[in-house]
Amino acid sequence: MTSSLKLTMVLAATAAALGAQTHVLAQDKVLNLYSARHYQTDEVMYETFTKTTGIKINRVDADDAGIVARLRAEGAASPADVILLVDAARMASADSQGLFQPIKSAKLDAAIPANLRADATADGVTWTGFSTRARVIVYDPMRVKAADVATYEQLADPKLKGMVCTRSGSHPYNLSLFATVVERLGDQKGEAWLKGLVGNMARDPKGGDTDQIKAVASGECGVALTNTYYVARLIKSTKPEDRAVMEKVRVVFPNQGTSGTHVNIAGAAVAKHAKNRDNAVAFMEFLASPYAQDYFANGNNEFPAVKGLKVDNAAIKAMGGDNFKAETVPLGVVSKNMTKVQQMLDRAGYK
Ligand code: FE
Repeated sequence: MTSSLKLTMVLAATAAALGAQTHVLAQDKVLNLYSARHYQTDEVMYETFTKTTGIKINRVDADDAGIVARLRAEGAASPADVILLVDAARMASADSQGLFQPIKSAKLDAAIPANLRADATADGVTWTGFSTRARVIVYDPMRVKAADVATYEQLADPKLKGMVCTRSGSHPYNLSLFATVVERLGDQKGEAWLKGLVGNMARDPKGGDTDQIKAVASGECGVALTNTYYVARLIKSTKPEDRAVMEKVRVVFPNQGTSGTHVNIAGAAVAKHAKNRDNAVAFMEFLASPYAQDYFANGNNEFPAVKGLKVDNAAIKAMGGDNFKAETVPLGVVSKNMTKVQQMLDRAGYK
């Protein structure tokens, strides 16, 4: 099949999936997107959106903190219509600063599981997850048995004394995980768990997730926490040193027999002062189409957020992630528990 024929078929399928968009076409045909995502594959996805709807996308790229700072500085004059951020903790933080507006969309309600979105209110839902990543355990099979790292709870078990490594406790990836653990265990057991985890550390928290995986491979740590896409990058890497790292470590999707592995999101929200609101909602609905889901998830080796869609990614399959049981605690609890968890981290001495 020629690539142009393939593109034509994709466009036709996407146009059908989007349904009648005549009300959108009657407005200003523009959408101002503030994005913390920088993947080549996203470009193709945006071009398809423009071709099928006639809505031109103006994109501002920055990191998550940069986007939030810009939105705050711009205030009501902000041209932003849709905001793409990574991690529920960051979504919750931007939401609590009043940077989003709630929307009502039957298409999003049907497509995206409620636990991957902000809690619904009478006005609708603010942020929505469009891809998921799992927070998994990597371990050194020479030092640790798989059975001793089957759950997050076991990270606090004295058996793992001197072996646990993580990035900073207050990094959004950890805050989100800890918020859902505390939600499940309750405050008392949750805080005891955090203290136990800190007591098991091999070193003070430092570096990013990839640094933790490498520290397990080097023998400095026995066990570490990481998001799945960092593992996938190492699996797909052509560098011999990355391959050597992956030969030395094993990956566990925790809590398969109980609550499921913690998943987080990359997601989007309509900006509080969006001038092209209907276009913004149309774009959010487009992100939930099977076509866009493929680009959105695979661009960063993540999982689709839409119910029933399967991941098609060799690295994800290689780490055993194509069919794992995911946690169903609503990510809205991340907002609710964030301050409390940060206080628990301070008391536990988690740096
Ligand atoms: Fe990351």
